[in-house]
Amino acid sequence: MSDPAEAPATLLARAGGAVDEATGGILPALQPSTTFLRDPDNLYRRGFDYGRDASPVGRIVESLLGRLEGGAAALLFASGMAAATAIFRALPAGSHVVAPKVMYWGLRKWLLGEAAAGRLAVELVAMEDLDAVRGAVRPGRTRLVWAETPANPTWVVSDLAALAEIARAAGAKLAVDNTVPTPLLTRPLALGAHLVMHSATKYLNGHSDVLAGAVVAATEDELFARLRAIRHDEGAVLGAFEAWLLLRGLRTLAVRLRAQCGAAMHLAAALERHPAVERVLYPGLPTHKGHTLAARQMVGGFGGMLSIVVRGGAEAAIATAARVRLWTRATSLGGVESLIEHRASIEGPATPAPPGLLRLSVGLEDPADLLADLEVALAAATRG
Ligand SMILES: *Cc1c(COP(=O)(O)O)cnc(C)c1O
Repeated sequence: MSDPAEAPATLLARAGGAVDEATGGILPALQPSTTFLRDPDNLYRRGFDYGRDASPVGRIVESLLGRLEGGAAALLFASGMAAATAIFRALPAGSHVVAPKVMYWGLRKWLLGEAAAGRLAVELVAMEDLDAVRGAVRPGRTRLVWAETPANPTWVVSDLAALAEIARAAGAKLAVDNTVPTPLLTRPLALGAHLVMHSATKYLNGHSDVLAGAVVAATEDELFARLRAIRHDEGAVLGAFEAWLLLRGLRTLAVRLRAQCGAAMHLAAALERHPAVERVLYPGLPTHKGHTLAARQMVGGFGGMLSIVVRGGAEAAIATAARVRLWTRATSLGGVESLIEHRASIEGPATPAPPGLLRLSVGLEDPADLLADLEVALAAATRG
């Protein structure tokens, strides 16, 4: 459905070509109405009836995300978690699903809760180990394989084309959390995935001022119809204003992400040489376990996220985060401001993060300033 003449950066900069037909405004209008006029003959020819079903600017964003991911259809949700949980809840009750051991912790926690309540049969595997995944899927019983790559917070890389093949052979579908690479760096549907999910709160919006989620589907099938029904009936829709802000954020995604990838690579290489750093976890580094696969699977960069493991464990890591002046101590990722976070503190004892791990979300500040700030904090914190 995408115009071959339009590269992602072009689509994004021009918001997919949307303008306000009524006024000639070069941007789509923000239409906040929750209800829409019915035609005298009782039809809704303009395609909108009620705000829980769809909003005009939301449709524009959905169409843009569908084109970027190369999908047939897309749905916006009120948050990334609303999008992800809708996918699992669209499966028949009691479905067997395979998910990664290393993944966005909030979703892993929710999945384990569903399993404890008997609503899903959940198996967590090392998704980068294809033999482990082959051993975990149950042909005819597994409905969904969930993947995230590079995965929070150690940035382990999994092979989406191979996972799609394993899922298909077992009669299951592959769904991918594509929040971190975005469709600019990885296009899971082209690699055989059936669904892509986004926390649009992160890179897609990019300014830490909108909570939003999305699902893009390879085909507009029965599963997609159930997702649409869940959103409509349960109401986890994205407000019109948030959709409008998200569209504004998306216009600069390509240039933001290019700068963030470059800065993350620069920081990763420099921090790897820092005496207070035990390990740098970044798929762009040749020392990273998933580097070769990431180089093949990711296009145009390795993303703006990396983690460092500080020598001296949790205490030294927390002391480092306490000493930065420029980096912001906060959770989340993908915004224009750089964030630093001691991951085990938020994830709790079930975290796969080593105690000394600090997760870094690289923003748009000058990379030299970011590096200098961290180097000073690391040196001071680990000197004791
Ligand atoms: C933040 C995040 C989510 C959850 O999205 P929300 O918008 O916070 O609900 C899911 N997956 C990943 C990778 C995330 O970073």
